[in-house]
Amino acid sequence: MKTIIEPFRIKSVEPLRMTTRDEREAKLREAGFNLFHLHSDDVLIDLLTDSGTGAMSSEQWAGIMRGDESYAGSPSYYHFRDRMREITGFEGILPTHQGRASERILFELIGGAGKVVPNNAHFDTTRANVEHSGARAIDLMIAEAKDPRNRHPFKGNMDVGALEALIEEVGADRIPAVMCTVTNNSGGGQPVSLANLRAIRAVCDRHGLQFFLDACRFAENAWFVKQREPGQGDRSVRAIVRDMFDLADGATISAKKDGIVNIGGVLLLRDADLLHRASDVLILTEGYVTYGGLAGRDLEAMAQGFEEVLHEDYLEYRIRSVQYLGDRLLAAGVPILEPPGGHAIYLDAKAFCPHIPVDEFPGQALAVALYRHAGIRSCEIGSVMFGGAGHDSPPMELVRLAIPRRVYTQSHIDYVIEAITEVHHGATGLRGFRIVEAPQVLRHFTARFAEL
Ligand SMILES: *Cc1c(COP(=O)(O)O)cnc(C)c1O
Repeated sequence: MKTIIEPFRIKSVEPLRMTTRDEREAKLREAGFNLFHLHSDDVLIDLLTDSGTGAMSSEQWAGIMRGDESYAGSPSYYHFRDRMREITGFEGILPTHQGRASERILFELIGGAGKVVPNNAHFDTTRANVEHSGARAIDLMIAEAKDPRNRHPFKGNMDVGALEALIEEVGADRIPAVMCTVTNNSGGGQPVSLANLRAIRAVCDRHGLQFFLDACRFAENAWFVKQREPGQGDRSVRAIVRDMFDLADGATISAKKDGIVNIGGVLLLRDADLLHRASDVLILTEGYVTYGGLAGRDLEAMAQGFEEVLHEDYLEYRIRSVQYLGDRLLAAGVPILEPPGGHAIYLDAKAFCPHIPVDEFPGQALAVALYRHAGIRSCEIGSVMFGGAGHDSPPMELVRLAIPRRVYTQSHIDYVIEAITEVHHGATGLRGFRIVEAPQVLRHFTARFAEL
């Protein structure tokens, strides 16, 4: 069969609310042209993020009912812990309320002034947490990743030569850990090969460094490895996932991605002393070690979600349906970051509106236009998110269309394709923006803009 169908049927539905163009114009002005400020019931198709926006299965909802809310030693915790041990091989497993809580605990313990943390590309909250600790966050993407047209099969790979050069330059004693983000969210949802992870591990071993994964999308990454990496095609996703985790000393995970839950996170640690200290910080700021800021029911939903995400018919549907959106946009002449990523399609805003200079935020212009034209909410990943005082402008200006898991059907995606194609035809009419108000960190969440 050529058609990859959604491998589920729908038991419960949420109505979508249509709005008029005039209504959307008014909402945009109220929101200071920041799509994070919109009320989500004024959005028709919400592609702001795939984080925490997935649809849970009937088994996950059943887990919600089974959740045991005991303060300490809940069976829901042990269910979650055993499932994570089975999948990752890690013994040290801490639940947290989401990915950034894992990051904050980790960098409070290993970060600090004078330290340097390399990554293929830091996600925004990871970078912010590294920098909040006083350390410097360095991105080491391969050169191919900076060219939106390059179809390298593992565009998320780290430039291992650049990692060696960095260690040489700053000294291994200033690097508390090397991180690698799978898949690489900031770099286009692109996968990292097992070979690259092994090469990073080898460099870490040579210099006595710890290696951590930002493993938010470990299952999607493993699916790409199975599809694209020589010698991996006959292996199960589970075995590939296990290989990925076996290479690492620890991992931060947002369960809101491949955990297919609405809230939750995980911190995996191998070192007993670090685990001990992380548990202390967890208790201080998140909650006791057997719930970590979550309810028992959340732990049940996570245990089930991390299991379902490894089903290969799910992963095939997931990756192929994102690819469908990317391929159709390309066929319509819309510039996107190629090849299509695992959880999202990234519009290339520099190529989409070449008449808008980077300091007038072409990504913001495009994201606003998609909402104005069709009620679609997307997310700027460019100079608004990563620019500002003390930061170089990022290599690409992107607009991310993140696809929530198991939420939208093919006709929703066909509508998105049609709308973007129409906006592309009128792209020369789009105008840039200036920032009128912004906070010091993570400014994209709250900044306000004026249209030029
Ligand atoms: C979402 C995400 C995070 C942060 O997780 P939250 O649950 O949003 O706090 C970290 N890294 C990557 C790659 C992510 O996609």
